[in-house]
Amino acid sequence: MRIKPEFSFDNLKIAFAHLKITDLKRMQKLYRLMNYPFLVMTGVFLTKTFFQFGLSVKEPLKRTVFKQFCGGESFETCQKTINKLGSYGVSSILDYSVEGKEEENIFEATMMEILNTIQKTGKNPLLPFAVFKVSGIASTSIMAKVQTNGILFPEEEKQFDAARARFFLLCKAAANSGVKLMVDGEESWFQDITDSWMLEAMKLYNKKEAILYNTFQMYRTNMEERLKDAHKKAVTGGFYLGAKLVRGAYMEKERKNARRMGYTDPIHSTKEATDNAYNNALNFCVKNIQQISLVSGSHNELSNKKLAELIDLHGFERSDVRFYFSQLYGMGDHISFNLAKAGFNVAKYLPYGPVREVLPYLGRRIKENSGISGQISREQILVKKEIFRRKNLKIA
Ligand SMILES: Cc1cc2nc3c(=O)[nH]c(=O)nc-3n(C[C@H](O)[C@H](O)[C@H](O)COP(=O)(O)OP(=O)(O)OC[C@H]3O[C@@H](n4cnc5c(N)ncnc54)[C@H](O)[C@@H]3O)c2cc1C
Repeated sequence: MRIKPEFSFDNLKIAFAHLKITDLKRMQKLYRLMNYPFLVMTGVFLTKTFFQFGLSVKEPLKRTVFKQFCGGESFETCQKTINKLGSYGVSSILDYSVEGKEEENIFEATMMEILNTIQKTGKNPLLPFAVFKVSGIASTSIMAKVQTNGILFPEEEKQFDAARARFFLLCKAAANSGVKLMVDGEESWFQDITDSWMLEAMKLYNKKEAILYNTFQMYRTNMEERLKDAHKKAVTGGFYLGAKLVRGAYMEKERKNARRMGYTDPIHSTKEATDNAYNNALNFCVKNIQQISLVSGSHNELSNKKLAELIDLHGFERSDVRFYFSQLYGMGDHISFNLAKAGFNVAKYLPYGPVREVLPYLGRRIKENSGISGQISREQILVKKEIFRRKNLKIA
């Protein structure tokens, strides 16, 4: 039997080999700033206001948070990063991160850009998946209305049909070129529409293998049940289930909306309950891997370790393409690079788009990495340790 290499998320040398000391110092400065919630909130507010009044703060943003969490403004500017990550065994997932618009011409333009990423993905082995958000190609207010059985005006109906057509066109384009395509999970008040479209598309295109992947946000109380139900449908319908697991990024917004509208909070009441649901879902997917292909999107060390152990325990090859670990660019490097070095499949989301348009995405990353979330990331400590380690060894 082949010996599988041990790995540890504490191996700083592997975790940060792709970064120069200047990168690490820039990250350290950024983390320091992000640890002041008041400063972060003021910064986010001022940035939005400046953009609204046509004042450009693009350059300072580009040199700081954008550089940390995004690959570039266009696909072409991401290429260097894709190659760099690839040389350490880490793949990329191009993520055109424009979201939250409500105009038809922007939806069309976004769809064209996603088609472009699907095409680029098909041509580059360092890009194992393409991804998109339905909010980039569809009006979420109309989707929300449909989800609650609201009556659409004729114009809204036309827009809804056009959005659905865009969705299926993307799925078809991916299937025709054999490119694996993931759809992100978003807010619960329109997610049911995405889920039903996705199920329909998987039935059509996942007959021979999982080409399309839906997202399961495990912070939602009904998600374990939904995952099992989707699996059952795949078994009875004779198709493969592509499942991307995440905990979920919209907790505050979800809780606030539930309070405001007076319905039961759809999110688990504790972090522990979300963690349990996530880890149960990992177990479920590995146990049913004959019918499921899994992408685990998480920066949680225990969940990543758990999946790695499950893969080994069940005797699967670490390079089995039905298992992928995924982290976001600029985050979780100690996890990504150590897992990749140990032979597991790892792909990082590489967001790109015009600086102004990726602000909602950047806002979420800033909150996650700042004192606002109360979770000063372990990564910040690791970066500090790595700077110290290199200084001692006099490594640039
Ligand atoms: C590759 C990748 C793709 C992603 N795609 C999506 C996506 O499509 N849709 C999406 O919504 N998010 C997505 N995310 C973000 C993800 O949902 C999480 O917000 C983020 O990764 C933090 O969770 P974690 O698993 O890394 O670990 P942790 O840091 O251990 O967990 C933090 C998460 O736990 C949950 N949580 C925290 N406190 C509580 C509480 N008190 N009660 C209940 N739950 C709590 C929240 O979901 C919070 O985000 C993605 C993340 C990655 C890495």
